[in-house]
Parts: sequence; structure tokens; C-alpha cells
Amino acid sequence: MSSAQEKFTRQTITHLHTWTPNLFSFRCTRDAGFRFTAGQFARLGVRKASGAIVWRGYSMVSSPFDEFLEFFSIVVPGGEFTSELSKLEVGDEILIEKQAHGFLTLDRFVDGDNLWLLATGTGLAPFLSMLQDFEIWQRFEQIVLVYSVRSESELAYRDLLDEILSREYVAEYAHKFTFVPVVTREEVPGSLGVRITDLLVSGELEKHVGLPMEAQNSRVLICGNPEMVEDCRMLLQKRDMQLSMTRRPGAVAVENYW
Ligand code: NAP
Repeated sequence: MSSAQEKFTRQTITHLHTWTPNLFSFRCTRDAGFRFTAGQFARLGVRKASGAIVWRGYSMVSSPFDEFLEFFSIVVPGGEFTSELSKLEVGDEILIEKQAHGFLTLDRFVDGDNLWLLATGTGLAPFLSMLQDFEIWQRFEQIVLVYSVRSESELAYRDLLDEILSREYVAEYAHKFTFVPVVTREEVPGSLGVRITDLLVSGELEKHVGLPMEAQNSRVLICGNPEMVEDCRMLLQKRDMQLSMTRRPGAVAVENYW
């Protein structure tokens, strides 16, 4: 099969960054024809020693305007995909499907004044891409990023967040942004200490930020642990905040991260 007929392109790993023994990020080259909307994911393929290719979806951390692609990954002990992925080195090949996927994008919402981004673990990735896109800053009056991890060392990308806020096209809107780190298995000053679901039930999250989360003005994107995503979705449904569908715009959009 010629490369034009194949569903994927071959890209090269250019950078690796280790956050913790089980958490890393990597950059690779980007095919000039690969287009995506901030919040979407790519299907990545790695070759096993047997020659078989394993595929998984990974949200882009990088912005649609970057010349490279960046991804954020956990190493799942014994995991078929991530154990292969974590062995890759700079210069190695990674396969990327030509088509990007996913509906965790701002165009799910037709209105709303404030935007809540709820992430656990590597589910942070799509929100980093969105925050680098100008649209989010223009569209919303307030943007709250809630990022829940088990331990402080897993709070990745804080430097990138600071750097995004200081970019010329963002700086004048930076006052709109609130970052809420949540560390659930260690006591960390400046971080909330219980799960996002519990913070929603108790109302502590809204109290902490000083902003209500309600159907009329709030829009919520959720990404990460599938149980957290489902439980948050149900809690929001009780507030009359429904999933946004193509034919029935709502207040919530979700993506499971594994
Ligand atoms: P995680 O268990 O998802 O925890 C990350 C944060 O989410 C923690 O603050 C955790 O709180 C919270 N959380 C977990 N379940 C929740 C729920 N039902 N409702 C609300 N909050 C919840 O941890 P992780 O380190 O990101 O990932 C752990 C495991 O997930 C890995 O060992 C791996 O097996 C799997 N994983 C797989 C993939 C994949 O691609 N296959 C990707 C990511 C993760 P607590 O500390 O209270 O639990």
C-alpha cells in the first residue's frame, strides 16, 4: 500500500519529558496535512516486538497552531500500549492516524458565560491545547481549570500554564482564569484535598472559586478517569445541566481518558 493510501502517517519523536516514574510527555513531528480542533485526540500506533501495531487515542496537549504534536501519558503497569510507548526514544517512529477525533471541543456549546474544565490525571491534556487557542479567551468571561491528581509530584504542566497566561494574546484576558489544583492523597498547601465529585456535592468548589456552576451560564468540559467523568455527569444532570448533543445543545461535554 502506498503512504497516500494508508490511514496513518509516520512521525518522529523529537522530545521526551519525565514528570514522575509513571508520567511522561513527548513531542513528535506533525504531518502538514494533520488538522485538529483544540480538545480533540489522535490515534497513535506503536509497533510491538512481534511487529503488531497497537493503537490508542491520545488528546493533543499542543495547540492546533504548533508545528509539532505533544502528548501526555501515564505508564500503565503491564499495559499493552503505554509500556511500548514509554520505551520510545528521541528519533524513534510513531504512527499517527490522519484523521483527528473527538467532541470535547468548544463548538459543543452555543452559549454560556463561564467555562469549567474538570480534569483528573492525564485528562488535563485537551485543556492545555484549548487554553493555547485564542477562542476560549474571547468567548468566556471566566475560565476555571480544576486538576485533580493523587500526589503533588503529579501536578504536571504548571510552567506551561504560567507561560500561556503570559503570552501576548492571552495576557489581557489572564484575569479571567482560575486554577484549582486538587491533590487527594497528600496534604498540599494551596490545593484542595478531596475528589472533584465530593467538591461538587458539598459545593466547596464553587465556594472556593466564588462562582456558581449552573445551567444557564456555566458550561462544563470533563476529561479523565471514566468513573469520575460518569459521576460528574450524573451530578450535573441533577442541576439540569445536560450533555450537549448536535441537535440539542447543552451545558456539558465529556471525554474518558482510557
Ligand atoms: P486516578 O486514579 O485517575 O486519580 C487521579 C485523580 O482522580 C485523583 O485525584 C483521584 O482521587 C481522582 N479520582 C479517581 N477516581 C475518581 C472518581 N471516581 N471520582 C472522582 N475523582 C476520582 O489516577 P491516575 O494516576 O491518573 O491513573 C491511575 C490508573 O488509571 C493507572 O494506574 C492506570 O491503570 C489507569 N489509567 C489508564 C490509562 C490508559 O490509557 N489506559 C490512562 C490513565 C490512567 P483519589 O486519590 O481519591 O483516588
